[in-house]
Amino acid sequence: MSKKPKKTYRVDIISDECKGCGRCIIACPKKVLDMSSKLNFMGTTFSVYQGSGCIGCGGCFYSCPEPGAISIIEITEDEAEDDDGIQ
Ligand code: SF4
Ligand code: SF4
Repeated sequence: MSKKPKKTYRVDIISDECKGCGRCIIACPKKVLDMSSKLNFMGTTFSVYQGSGCIGCGGCFYSCPEPGAISIIEITEDEAEDDDGIQ
């Protein structure tokens, strides 16, 4: 019997699609999103993932008014070994 791969999650936020409203930060039950101190090309701050702790609940995605700004990526244990989280 094969071992079931452990699922983990990563959040990808496209900074230039984010308008910095902060809804995803409020919605996140694990508090793993922060507002960047940097600005995107529109001159607004943007949300960033802290790098670990996401449980894949979808709260950030469903609270975001910008359809292309935020994605939740499911990764298996094998993929996690190769994933440095950098886009
Ligand atoms: S999927 Fe859930 S836990 Fe992960 S960053 Fe979004 S709101 Fe937070
Ligand atoms: S909810 Fe969407 S637009 Fe608002 S800060 Fe989060 S990623 Fe950016």
